[in-house]
Amino acid sequence: MSSNALFYLTSNDMPLVSHADGIYIWDTTGRRYIDACSGAITCNVGHNHPTVKRAMVEQLDKVAFSYRTQFESQVALDLAARLVDLTDGEIDKVFFVGSGSEAVESAIKLAVQYFVAKGQPERCKFVSLRPSYHGSTIGALGLTGYEPLEAPYRSITLGSVKVPSPDLYRYQEASAEEHIASVLEQTESAILAAGPETIAAVALEPVGGASTGGRMVTRAYMEGVRALCDRYGCLLVMDEVLSGMGRTGAWFAYQHFGVVPDIIALAKGLGSGYYPIAAMMARQELVDEVSRSGGFMHGHTYAGNPLACATGLAVIDVMDSERLVSNAAEQGTYLRQQLDQLAQKYDCIGNVRGVGLLQGVELVQDKARKQPFPASFNAFDKLTALAKARGLLIYPRRSLNGLEGDHVLITPPLTVTASDIDDIIALLDDSLAAFEQASL
Ligand code: PLP
Repeated sequence: MSSNALFYLTSNDMPLVSHADGIYIWDTTGRRYIDACSGAITCNVGHNHPTVKRAMVEQLDKVAFSYRTQFESQVALDLAARLVDLTDGEIDKVFFVGSGSEAVESAIKLAVQYFVAKGQPERCKFVSLRPSYHGSTIGALGLTGYEPLEAPYRSITLGSVKVPSPDLYRYQEASAEEHIASVLEQTESAILAAGPETIAAVALEPVGGASTGGRMVTRAYMEGVRALCDRYGCLLVMDEVLSGMGRTGAWFAYQHFGVVPDIIALAKGLGSGYYPIAAMMARQELVDEVSRSGGFMHGHTYAGNPLACATGLAVIDVMDSERLVSNAAEQGTYLRQQLDQLAQKYDCIGNVRGVGLLQGVELVQDKARKQPFPASFNAFDKLTALAKARGLLIYPRRSLNGLEGDHVLITPPLTVTASDIDDIIALLDDSLAAFEQASL
């Protein structure tokens, strides 16, 4: 028997996972790690939560799977209603899927079918940002602005009109306001060049995660993009796969900006890693239009299955009863203060950015010139390995465009306490000292 039949295994010295509890995860040698990145920014309610486990087992005792064209399930109805409530009723309808990529894929297809139903089939192009990450399936990859991921598949992805993502760290203009105005101008020019009547939607991450390491947009930017969508008659798709479900200190990151999208893609924190569940949420009018034209021509086998929905409901119950959204805001502020202090101490930290418990740290070789380490130095990998050797898990990302530095994300479960953050910071401090030593 092959000792390594896993296609995706990238390293032979990967520890075997044993068990987990709260913010901790252990390997089979008994080593304990602090999960300061919630796996892949997923395990929002922490590991081994009794409420979630109980709800899952109770659902398993009733029915794990039923197919959506044969039965509706109360848990699916309840979870959809809860999600709509979390948008304060600004978004009316929920379509369940199994992953973030599927949620984005569903958003793409809903937007296209909506315009076909409205008699505007020419509206089939999308505008998205560079850098950005929207998933790995062919449609979602078409929106993604990450050169190494796009390159092998360029011949089979639809692609999108790529526009710059706001960069409040490296902008060249005289002020952040001027930078945002310039990015919006470039976005408008790209829409005009592509033909506004051909654009179905603009898709963006309100706060970059794996793509830009916590880079934020601003209220003026969000308002500007919404205005462009309204002016040219296209939709605004908010990719909240990573930023949604309380991670940023609001249920959805778009709520920080007072701008309402037409479609939301939601995943990771919804099942909190206990079971794959994701959702595409949309305004009533879109769903009505598509329904009149014969229904949404799209769907997946596992969509809205009872076990997935029971998991999502239990996660929201935990978030509510433990006040995890406000904890994310509160502890996020504390985490940010501590990271800012590390940035004062270490020259290799060029920038700390993000909101709530979605904080990114950009690594640079020359702080004054904001110059990244050479790609061959693999700064993201080096710091992550040094942290892991000290029992701290952080989320690494290579620079998506070579112009900005590699970064790491510090995104602990939303259950984190101030004393947990002190432990995280102490280990990160030690790792950064070793990193600077290694990079001399
Ligand atoms: N969109 C964003 C913003 C993401 O961060 C991710 C995953 O990291 C995806 C989409 C794709 O989600 P999944 O990996 O569940 O397919």
